[in-house]
Amino acid sequence: MSIIEFQGVNKSFGDFQVLKDIDFTVEEGEVVVIIGPSGSGKSTMLRCINALEPISSGVLIVDGMRVHDKKTNINVLRSEIGFVFQQFNLYPHMTVAENIKLAPLRVKKVPKSEANERCERLLKRVGIPEQANKYPESLSGGQQQRVAIARGLAMEPRIMLFDEPTSALDPEMIGEVLDVMADLAKGGMTMVCVTHEMGFARRVADRVVFMDEGRIIEVGPPEHFFQNPENERTKRFLGQIL
Ligand code: ADP
Ligand code: MG
Repeated sequence: MSIIEFQGVNKSFGDFQVLKDIDFTVEEGEVVVIIGPSGSGKSTMLRCINALEPISSGVLIVDGMRVHDKKTNINVLRSEIGFVFQQFNLYPHMTVAENIKLAPLRVKKVPKSEANERCERLLKRVGIPEQANKYPESLSGGQQQRVAIARGLAMEPRIMLFDEPTSALDPEMIGEVLDVMADLAKGGMTMVCVTHEMGFARRVADRVVFMDEGRIIEVGPPEHFFQNPENERTKRFLGQIL
């Protein structure tokens, strides 16, 4: 069974239809990169996956749970999904370690010693073991985003969602964040990433999805996408950004 399954999903904000008949599945361990112009519905699609947005019709199944079914336990669903945003959204009054340990301690009731070990391991994994006791504001943007990734991983999710994780970073910090993401991908994490980093898409994605005006226009492996896109709109978009 696919780990994420959109079946004829529609979503509107009032009269405005943001997602139009989305049929799409993500397999376990797959890395999917979503690209498309601003306003095409990319963020909304991610937000629907962890029930930050309701859908108007269709079915969305994540790890066997019907996301928009009243009987689904949203907390269980969300504990299986890590979400990394453009703005890192770290708690400024908490240290790096406290940010990372918060959800495991509070939501999963993980014992303190285990939370500490997990935190240490994750900070090593994202390459900043020495920053544990600092406050987010004293870190660079790239380091803060790596903390946000570690925090997302702290609940041991089965899926990681990334919404333009490098768009707010100075150019020299983009690489360090993409490296952490590539490493996660290599480790077998299921990932859905909205990004404009086409180098990353080429290197890391199993499939690339092009969205425009609320529809999935084209899906394929990166080599297809960058060498032989079929759709005119895809070609035009790639022409503008490459
Ligand atoms: P993208 O991430 O591809 O830039 P979004 O998913 O953020 O696109 O938004 C798609 C469209 O939906 C945009 O036109 C946006 O203005 C609109 N939209 C997003 N969120 C809301 C909201 N909460 N209320 C009304 N319109 C929204
Ligand atoms: Mg967006």
